[in-house]
Amino acid sequence: MSEEEGQLEARLEEQEEFEPSEEFVSQANVTDEGIYEEFEEDWPGCWEGAADLLDWYEGYDEVLDDSNPPFYKWFTDGKLNVSDNCLDRHLEERGDEVAIEWVGEPTDEENRTFTYEELHREVNEFAAALRDLGVEEDDVVTMYMPMVPELPVAMLACARIGAPHSVVFAGFSAEALATRMNAADSEFLVTCDGYYRRGDALDHLEKANEGLDGVDHDVEATVVVDRLGDDGHGHDLRDGQHDYAELVADHEGAEVEPVHRDAEDMLFLMYTSGTTGKPKGVKHTTAGYLAWAAWTSQAVLDIKPDDTYWCSADIGWITGHSYIVYGPLALGTTSVMYEGTPDYPERDRLWEIVEEYEVDQLYTAPTAIRAFMKWGKQFPEEHDLSSLRLLGTVGEPINPRAWKWYYQHIGNEECPVVDTWWQTETGGMMVTTLPGIKKMKPGSAGPPLPGLDVRIVDTKGEEVEPGRAGYLTVNKPWPGMLRTLYQNDERFVNEYWAEYSDTDSDDPEDWVYFPEDGAKIDEDGYITVLGRVDDVINVSGHRLGTMEIESAIVGVEGVAEAAVVGGDHEMKGEAVYAYVILEDGYEGDDDMRERIVGGVEDSIGPIARPEAVVFTPELPKTRSGKIMRRLLEQIANDEELGDTTTLRNPEIVEDIQTKVERED
Ligand code: ATP
Ligand code: MG
Repeated sequence: MSEEEGQLEARLEEQEEFEPSEEFVSQANVTDEGIYEEFEEDWPGCWEGAADLLDWYEGYDEVLDDSNPPFYKWFTDGKLNVSDNCLDRHLEERGDEVAIEWVGEPTDEENRTFTYEELHREVNEFAAALRDLGVEEDDVVTMYMPMVPELPVAMLACARIGAPHSVVFAGFSAEALATRMNAADSEFLVTCDGYYRRGDALDHLEKANEGLDGVDHDVEATVVVDRLGDDGHGHDLRDGQHDYAELVADHEGAEVEPVHRDAEDMLFLMYTSGTTGKPKGVKHTTAGYLAWAAWTSQAVLDIKPDDTYWCSADIGWITGHSYIVYGPLALGTTSVMYEGTPDYPERDRLWEIVEEYEVDQLYTAPTAIRAFMKWGKQFPEEHDLSSLRLLGTVGEPINPRAWKWYYQHIGNEECPVVDTWWQTETGGMMVTTLPGIKKMKPGSAGPPLPGLDVRIVDTKGEEVEPGRAGYLTVNKPWPGMLRTLYQNDERFVNEYWAEYSDTDSDDPEDWVYFPEDGAKIDEDGYITVLGRVDDVINVSGHRLGTMEIESAIVGVEGVAEAAVVGGDHEMKGEAVYAYVILEDGYEGDDDMRERIVGGVEDSIGPIARPEAVVFTPELPKTRSGKIMRRLLEQIANDEELGDTTTLRNPEIVEDIQTKVERED
């Protein structure tokens, strides 16, 4: 590192607040600070503006019907169609503009570009095909697909004919597919022969077929996309299985009138990843969800029709639903879709794509950012990233060091970073800065979006003092909220409302949504999400958030990533176990161990001192990149390990186990 660079790093390390650049502010979609007050005063009327981003066949009566909490209804009796809003209405002005820019993993393969007109055509043809296969309005169509363009086509085709979709992440097991098809009584499946991952042509259809064998009712039809061509695994299609391309060709030129859906009709089901137990069928509806996805895309991601926008999540997660497909396409922008991993063929693949397509906004996850940081800045430095205007992150808390690295090495200190807190259940972003208005504080997501009543409370529901850890609650409904858990209203109330609501009351004021995350708030109203409520360690009666300890560890030079869990301890109740990944070029020796322990003592106090520091090349992660703390806890306690099938890297578990045994 040169002296100049060293000074820059040192300055950034100290700096706790960052202002958006004037250049960004001067072009931002939302720049009037008054929006917060305005929305508060005109609530729930403030959401009319979000509804105005959509085209309606029939206008709605009421913005909000809160007569039966927590079963809220938004934009009552309005009629609209999501596929019309994402496609048809753009045709006249933007038909030739690119809607989806698809990049496959193999570098020698041509990318596939769909203009709005081309996407519209294929969605119509596939919608007609689905109808011919017997799909009727309100039938749930399951999609078990990797990142191929036929996935958004299928989603929009379903939306067109009013058939809700349920997308199951392609990395999930056959069993996960069967469970979800059974839970939703889904009789239709759209899947794929395979896809490329780090150069290998993976067989996906075998898994899909195995899943189908576990479905406990008749499956009427399965559609199979041929992604791999000659690299395919030679499966013959079974009875009732159809080739996607043939179906589309058979319906060439077909036009399907978009069904007029009621505002509250179901758009899709999404089973949450299940990092914490049995999957929940989160139900999202048509108008509220789309308005929320579109409004937040515009206000937070600053999307404009002429942008090339890229969210590197997988469409198998809610992030991909709201911020690859629905939000961006509702706004008529260009949405980039990438099939592969960031390190294939080299660790600069993302930066190569940003450069080639002149990406304006990049929305990714802290786990990816920490990997970039570990790999080193030389990879982004090889590329011209000057097209970038805004950066975003989602999925888990981001530690200040990773935030600053992203800000400096990807954004060149010119792009605001939006750290967006939200969940599958919220439909879209909830807590984050508005990039054209608010200063940023690394490590803190920011204030709640305008019109949202988010509070940090104690176990009794009383607001806690700034700086104190508490529980995050949402005290007023919002348009993008889940409406229920599919066919299970009771679990919906119990999971999300019972904790802080008077469940006998009809007064919406008595109903409080509890997302099960811990958080703290500062004097400016900025919220730092500390992670799931169950991620708390109780050391000698002190409740310590794992996130705070992890932050302290990741603040130590040379540490790339850390996960902290509680291990049983005779004296203390629980003791802090830290699993640590080092940056390339650092050794996991005693000196490093001491610096880590010292770092925790300095920033939190001796009470949080890790009992064990275990160096590992990887952490067990779910396919969505979330650390499986439950497993690390079981390892620390030498317990039998639970299900590891949803892990991206199951092989690492044994490796860590051996290391922990050696520590003991
Ligand atoms: P499951 O609910 O099935 O266990 P999940 O919670 O991992 O799965 P998601 O809905 O994708 O499924 O994740 C939402 C959670 O991710 C939030 O509740 C929060 O814990 C975490 N999260 C998301 N974004 C942020 C963020 N910007 N900062 C901190 N935490 C975040
Ligand atoms: Mg969750």
